[in-house]
Amino acid sequence: MREQIVILWFKRDLRVVDHAPLAAAAACGLPVLPLYIVEPDYWRQPFASSRHWHFIHDSLADLHGMCARLGQPMAVHTGDAVAVFKKLHSAFDVTAIYAHEEIGNDWTYKRDTQVLAWCAETGIALHEFPTNGVVRRLKTRDNWAGIRNRRMAQPCVATPAALTPLGARNTGFELGALPDKADALFGAPPPGAVQRGGRAEGEKLLQSFLTTRGRHYTAHMSAPGLSEIYGSRLSAHLTWGTLSAREVDQATAKCQAQLSGEAARAWKRPLAAFRSRLAWRCHFMQKLEDQPSIEHKAMHAFFDGMREDSFDPELFAAWQAGRTGYPLVDACMRNLTANGWITFRMRAMLVSFASYDLWLDWRQTGYVLARLFTDYEPGIHYSQLQMQSGVTGINAIRIYNPVKQSYDHDPDGAFIKKWVPELTDVPSAFVHEPWKMSRAMQQESGCIIGQDYPEPVVDHRAAVPAAREKMARIRKMQGFSDASKMVHAKLGSRKRTRRKARSGARAPAAQLDMLNLLDG
Ligand SMILES: Cc1cc2nc3c(=O)[nH]c(=O)nc-3n(C[C@H](O)[C@H](O)[C@H](O)COP(=O)(O)OP(=O)(O)OC[C@H]3O[C@@H](n4cnc5c(N)ncnc54)[C@H](O)[C@@H]3O)c2cc1C
Repeated sequence: MREQIVILWFKRDLRVVDHAPLAAAAACGLPVLPLYIVEPDYWRQPFASSRHWHFIHDSLADLHGMCARLGQPMAVHTGDAVAVFKKLHSAFDVTAIYAHEEIGNDWTYKRDTQVLAWCAETGIALHEFPTNGVVRRLKTRDNWAGIRNRRMAQPCVATPAALTPLGARNTGFELGALPDKADALFGAPPPGAVQRGGRAEGEKLLQSFLTTRGRHYTAHMSAPGLSEIYGSRLSAHLTWGTLSAREVDQATAKCQAQLSGEAARAWKRPLAAFRSRLAWRCHFMQKLEDQPSIEHKAMHAFFDGMREDSFDPELFAAWQAGRTGYPLVDACMRNLTANGWITFRMRAMLVSFASYDLWLDWRQTGYVLARLFTDYEPGIHYSQLQMQSGVTGINAIRIYNPVKQSYDHDPDGAFIKKWVPELTDVPSAFVHEPWKMSRAMQQESGCIIGQDYPEPVVDHRAAVPAAREKMARIRKMQGFSDASKMVHAKLGSRKRTRRKARSGARAPAAQLDMLNLLDG
């Protein structure tokens, strides 16, 4: 007779702390087989990249040790999920699978549907648990924030003391091996460095953020270069689940409660801003949960078809390579390519420039960024792409001026010069707009525009009115406003601005989602 077991399926939750499915699996009394599935078809999708895999690989190596310490080492199998489960079910009598609900791509949603169907067919119970503040089958957005906040306030789930291991007759069961970081299955090698994964790294970052770095979080959050030091840098850990959003939120709340005097004053704003971003994390992921089509379709359907036909491959290539002729845009793209992370404002500027100045389709640029970001989180990613491209119908249209951003956030051009070495000897007064240098100055600084560094690929001052005009034409169409109201009813934040809340009036739908996201 096959041994009865349950499976704990790890997905984007690579930890044993605050892990409800693991605790429930351990409590059921049967042997627990922790499992990670490497799904080759997933890694062929346009959003997946070896940079993600490197981070996951570090995290799985860590997790492997943790599971072994709990009494049952983790299995890592490669293949289609249903095929892997079938294979395991032929070796064991699998009575149940425990997992978190995955707030993922259309691809993972379809895979989960197949697993669910197979479980129903074979009589295996599939126990799925909520992922942080995201609510499955949410009826209305009106009470969502309350549900999310209550979940965040609940105590973290205790790590089980031990897992019941596989029985003696199965100790020789082939657990499988973790594919190499460099395995061709994961595509081309990362184009640069990769943030280290693993829970221990996440804990270190959280600790240093809450004790030192975070003090200057709000002051430097938008500056490229400085933000990489003073931002929490926890995004990849939250994405791949080496830390839970709840434990990060609770650790921050604990710090807030312990501070007093000058420290309390200095830390008040940064810690509040940080916690509000953790809340936005859930808010954006909830959008994808409620409307999975936002990966492929504009939230406001009137905007579909607006950019697709005018896609210019040369402009796309220039943007992707960091050769647009706009120094801050190029520096950000090259920095992101090299390190896999950039701060919120610069992500927003990269998308704004691609979507408005270059009129590129957000789906194409979105895949490039998804592959580059170590922290690729579908719910945040597609919501933000759509917001910064103006296709939600419920957000104020915000077009970033890449030259103004450059003067504001890299005034001496140090970041630009680091990432665009062609401009190293350009005088600081011209580093934001090198095309304004005279020919003699270009020669003197060893940077001939159009030869050593590109001319601007478009004129921002002309591109923006043209983009606004195209947007306005759509916004004036009959039925636009009614459709916006429907988007807001389903996906919009219910948070009010402070001023409007005091006066009792509702903030206009168009502004609701911009709150708390930008520092001015
Ligand atoms: C076009 C675009 C795409 C983005 N794609 C992603 C993505 O794929 N994955 C991702 O984690 N973030 C994404 N963001 C949001 C944000 O830029 C990153 O979360 C942030 O820069 C990560 O750095 P950090 O961990 O130091 O953040 P911190 O500022 O320290 O914030 C703490 C955490 O809050 C969450 N968070 C921060 N800002 C936001 C935000 N604006 N919306 C929702 N959650 C937020 C993240 O989980 C982050 O780790 C995107 C933003 C834009 C404009």
